[in-house]
Amino acid sequence: MANIDKTRKNILSLEKGGKPKRGKLNVILFYPNSYNIAITSLAFHRIYEIVGSVNETGIFRYFLDGTNDKRLLPLDRDVNLSEVDIIAFFLSYEMDFFNLVKSLRLLKIPLFAEERKNKYPLIIGGGVAVTENPETVADFFDLLFIGEAEESLPAFIELFFKEEKREDILEKASYIKGVYNPEKVSFEYGNSGEIIKIKGSTLERGVYSYFEKDFSKSVFMTPLGEFGNTFLIELTRGCPAGCRFCISRTLYNPLRFAAKDLVISMMKEHMDAEKFGFMGASVSFHPHLKEFMETALASGKKFSISSLRAERIDMEFLRLLKAGGSQTITIAPEAGEDEMRERLNKGITKEHIEKAVNLSLMADIDAIKLYFMIGLPFEKQEDIDAIINMGKLIRHTEKLTKKYFKKISFNITPFVPKPFTPFQWAAFESLPSIKSKLNYLRKGLTALGINVYYDTPKWAYMEAVLSRGDRRARNILIKNIPSNKANLDFYASRIRSDEEIFPWDFINIGIPKEKLLQEWKKIRDSQY
Ligand code: SF4
Repeated sequence: MANIDKTRKNILSLEKGGKPKRGKLNVILFYPNSYNIAITSLAFHRIYEIVGSVNETGIFRYFLDGTNDKRLLPLDRDVNLSEVDIIAFFLSYEMDFFNLVKSLRLLKIPLFAEERKNKYPLIIGGGVAVTENPETVADFFDLLFIGEAEESLPAFIELFFKEEKREDILEKASYIKGVYNPEKVSFEYGNSGEIIKIKGSTLERGVYSYFEKDFSKSVFMTPLGEFGNTFLIELTRGCPAGCRFCISRTLYNPLRFAAKDLVISMMKEHMDAEKFGFMGASVSFHPHLKEFMETALASGKKFSISSLRAERIDMEFLRLLKAGGSQTITIAPEAGEDEMRERLNKGITKEHIEKAVNLSLMADIDAIKLYFMIGLPFEKQEDIDAIINMGKLIRHTEKLTKKYFKKISFNITPFVPKPFTPFQWAAFESLPSIKSKLNYLRKGLTALGINVYYDTPKWAYMEAVLSRGDRRARNILIKNIPSNKANLDFYASRIRSDEEIFPWDFINIGIPKEKLLQEWKKIRDSQY
């Protein structure tokens, strides 16, 4: 087991950018997972930048040690908690909720806000997993940040410089848009366990108004992350597509593009990077994406793109992508059949996928990777067979064009219904059924020479539990999965009635619940 000081020194010696800074107000920025994972999250860079931009604020980055999950990795310095005013947890994934509990225990901080009061730093949190539903972890926090924190987080930190008392800071923070004090919302439950009443006022999601001129970019670079020494730039926020299973279309609404001139000048300023990473859920919709690719190439730099829509791919795009160092094309049909894609409102057809495969072969792209979900509501055996047929179609296209991929991969993910989507009323499919579909697909696809990758079904099930949990679900986290499985099925495997009150219903995410329900009814009644 590597000595923690040695690990720290090694990471810091390879990192460019991040500089420990002490201030009048000290913040631990805690990503409850390994450094290598945290560093690939552009949102984590953004929070570091935001906190650091507030005068007289010191920041210390903390992680969990990737080689020993019973150990903290205080990267910049192991600070004494008495010197710290705020601990800010960054939660991108529901499964990191377990790591949140582990981290608080390792810091020797009482788990629940009600047990802490004045004796400890304020514990705050944010990130996508919290915005989509804060309730599973609400009891652990003094405050949570719902939505984009570019405006709310500095406003909250400024309160520390103005107010003396903790209760005044908490009270005034509740008036900042997007800041949630869990103490101010409570729930009543009925005999069968459902919520029958939410007491508290509606909370507005934070939305950053100046994204076009002030978007996220790498604050530190290191060869240790997934992308290597890459300068990441967030080109888009939000998505114009309306995929019904996806939280990006609601949580990051409205669609915004980074300003062309600023992106290009930023690229020119960072020619020390090995490559550029163009990020954003809808990056292929950026009207100047090709110009950014050309700018990188003209300077002899490689680049990568975080996601692609099959219908946006053309020959020119593939030529640029290949010249930029990408030998793999990744597309997400999500389902095998057009009918299911229509139900998901994916907006692409078999024709688009066929065309993307064809063009990729003609452009001599080495590898293709396709993403699918299984366990979708109202899925039939034909939908599963259609995924195998998609593999056959690729093989057939290879024969017709007499060009061949070196590698074809299908990534199969169990579908997890998410809050603030029309599928929030749907159930997660039973684990035996998911496993049997996976086995069936593995056999059918490997027979075609296709590599099959999939997430462990039981972890997807746990994600389904945590993403739609209420405050009582905290027990799952503190007991690290209880033996009482019925309790978990209550959150994951139950079809909700149209009238069900959800734990996140007090948040105004920007799309009315009635509209989501109408869409769910359309899906349910097959009127899509
Ligand atoms: S295109 Fe991607 S990011 Fe946009 S709504 Fe669909 S799945 Fe979400």
